[in-house]
Amino acid sequence: MARPKHQTHCVSCGRSVPDYDIINFGSVDTGYRQLCTKCFNTEVAESDGLDKFEHADFAPVELTDCDGQAHVFHFRTRLFGPGVAMDAFEVRDGHPAGYQFQVIGTPEDDPLTLLARLIEKIRRAISIKHLKVGTRLLLP
Ligand SMILES: [Zn+2]
Repeated sequence: MARPKHQTHCVSCGRSVPDYDIINFGSVDTGYRQLCTKCFNTEVAESDGLDKFEHADFAPVELTDCDGQAHVFHFRTRLFGPGVAMDAFEVRDGHPAGYQFQVIGTPEDDPLTLLARLIEKIRRAISIKHLKVGTRLLLP
């Protein structure tokens, strides 16, 4: 079988992951390596001495907006020194597209707490979508 489109090998763990899960990690001096989010987080945690940080991968979650339309959100957690950014996004044709949301926490936060905050944020946002659709109906 051919290599799936929009997938890249992580040079550290060898896993094949979606392109949006790959980070060019390094510097001009040392060169860049393509790492998956998990390996990236592990390296950042090690170099920053964040031994409490645990990388968590979450399976995609399907949420329905008030028009009854289903949206599948993928999650990505990235450590950046003092904080953790958790993104939720839809994927089309192998790339993030559509709705995108983010919450920022600290490396000590429980990933499940961050996930709950993020999902709550998405729910609130997509539950007001019908207002936009209603506006569109008024257009000629
Ligand atoms: Zn990896």
